[in-house]
Amino acid sequence: MLSRRTGFFVESVIRDMTRLSLKHNAINLAQGFPDFPAPEEIKRAGAAAIMDDHNQYSITWGAKELRDEISRKAREYNKIESDPESEITITCGSTEAMMASVLAVINEGDEVVVFEPFYENYGPDAAVSGAVPRFVPLDDELNIDEGALVSAFNKKTKMLILNTPNNPSGKVFTKDEMKLIADLCVDHDVIAVTDEIYEYILYDGKKHISIGSLDEMRDRTITISGFSKTYSVTGWRIGYAIAEKNLTSGIRKVHDFLTVGAPAPLQHACVSALRMPDSYYSDLARMYDGKRRLLHKALNDAGLKCRMPDGAYYILADIPEDAGMDDMEFAKYLVSEVGVASVPGSSFYKSEVGRHKLRFTFSKKEETLLEAARRLGNLGF
Ligand code: PLP
Repeated sequence: MLSRRTGFFVESVIRDMTRLSLKHNAINLAQGFPDFPAPEEIKRAGAAAIMDDHNQYSITWGAKELRDEISRKAREYNKIESDPESEITITCGSTEAMMASVLAVINEGDEVVVFEPFYENYGPDAAVSGAVPRFVPLDDELNIDEGALVSAFNKKTKMLILNTPNNPSGKVFTKDEMKLIADLCVDHDVIAVTDEIYEYILYDGKKHISIGSLDEMRDRTITISGFSKTYSVTGWRIGYAIAEKNLTSGIRKVHDFLTVGAPAPLQHACVSALRMPDSYYSDLARMYDGKRRLLHKALNDAGLKCRMPDGAYYILADIPEDAGMDDMEFAKYLVSEVGVASVPGSSFYKSEVGRHKLRFTFSKKEETLLEAARRLGNLGF
């Protein structure tokens, strides 16, 4: 009964782990959403937008006021110039922006370069569009293997997907790495699609660089971001794609027939979000830095060795060898016996490496993380 394309991927393991977490009354460090309240100003703006009757369809590619604000923010923060009339599309989360971009650009059989580890949605995004993914593993220190990257490009390569700061590894790509990627995209006439949803969650003085700001990349980059993570409103489902006119016209067509538009009142509230003072963003990063340190220590103390992430709000940890379990078995053991939900590493890897890892999020209240730390303390590896 079902199409062949739905057979190319499985249901999200992350959302599956959330269901298991509920079943076992565990602490959910699987899915990356905050368990603390969204900022008061933004919630008030959302409620006001509904009471002010912004309750009907907005223009399909997004409310003009929000596109104008996104264009300003992209110029100031991402160093990308964009025409809000013809180069910005507001979508139902960055998830839709990514799927619409892939559907707009890819023909069956085109190849898409993806770094490993990767955010689990990129596999299904590629599968639905008929693309062939080419995974390029980062090394143990999360550096690019230049030879592997160069050899991933060929005549069939149409797109490269970049995610910085990265989920699950916390890697923040450097200017030199961007330059290497950009040169390859230019030489092979490839479109870069960049998922920058964690662009404000950076640690230890790391800087966010958008590949679309590099010479010759503006017109071959689709820059995707959204409001879920920066403003702690993952349920609002507002994201966007910034791309040159012609690319945008394709994205808008897919978006129109897929969803018509993103939630109208919440688009209005997102205008207020983009007008938050600079201190909002430094406070956000500082808050997550404290949580990062807490979870990093708890995992290492429990024998789950891990490195400090440079950005985003996840930690990838190694499963202790003497556990004698793979990632699926260990994740199930942790959720049912220890009461902490994580995500099996194989959700983020094509290779075997993921079988030895678990991902934990620290986008939770301090008390939630402390309780998780207490439970993990009973592990004894
Ligand atoms: N991209 C990455 C890398 C993510 O980690 C997530 C959520 O976890 C998303 C996109 C989803 O974002 P949105 O809520 O805007 O659809």
